[in-house]
Amino acid sequence: MIKFDVLTLFPDMFHAVLGDSIINRAREKDLVKMDFINIRDFSQNKHKKTDDYPYSGGGGMLMTPQPIYDAYMSVASSCEKKPYTIYMSPQGSVFNQKKAIELSKMEHIVVLCGHYEGVDQRVLDMIVDEEISIGDFVLTGGEIPAMAVIDSVCRMIPGVLSGENSYTNESHYDGLLEYPQYTHPQEFMGIKIPDVLISGHHKNIEIWKRQQALINTLKKRPDMLEKAPLTADDIKFLDQIRKKS
Ligand code: SAM
Repeated sequence: MIKFDVLTLFPDMFHAVLGDSIINRAREKDLVKMDFINIRDFSQNKHKKTDDYPYSGGGGMLMTPQPIYDAYMSVASSCEKKPYTIYMSPQGSVFNQKKAIELSKMEHIVVLCGHYEGVDQRVLDMIVDEEISIGDFVLTGGEIPAMAVIDSVCRMIPGVLSGENSYTNESHYDGLLEYPQYTHPQEFMGIKIPDVLISGHHKNIEIWKRQQALINTLKKRPDMLEKAPLTADDIKFLDQIRKKS
């Protein structure tokens, strides 16, 4: 079981996305627990303000440290061990499947979502263990990035998906993109699914899947092949494909 405590100014945004479908079933089965903590509730300002002007000038507002620190302590003060604390930030290292697997093995994660121009550095220095970005672009807030990270971490928790195959065959798990997939009907607008998939020959189907994953990766993300763990057969096959094109 993994517990997420999300510190945010907009807790309602999370219910729409993480309150349905696979992730909600995981919550119902107690494989995952999530609390969305409204930072504003902890503001000691009489108007419940949570932002102020940056000392460095420039446009925009910064989130003040006190409400964030107190929201964090409302979670952390009762824990035996400091919860692993992530700040969603465009300055962090870019999230990937490897990180999703790593985080899925943790017991308790606090996720801080920034807003406006960001967060006062002092509270980040006090509570944050890691900054994570979802890509080299800037969003208005950390809520969408937090949802993306939580969703993909939850999928890696045993029991959340129907079987381990559901994710071990997927794109990025083994350094390749997934092979193309087909469902019913066998023929759609004159286009048939590849014969091998209805051959019942399991070994040939496995070979086909691997080769299609290699072709897909070569076509769409050739950069991934530089780091992917490839067998001698994979390398030979890729050489043949490259020669043909
Ligand atoms: N001024 C900040 C900077 O230049 O690094 C950007 C602040 S951004 C407008 C507001 C908040 O959105 C951030 O505090 C962060 O929580 C979140 N955010 C924006 N882009 C993100 C990204 N690519 N990944 C993760 N979080 C992001």
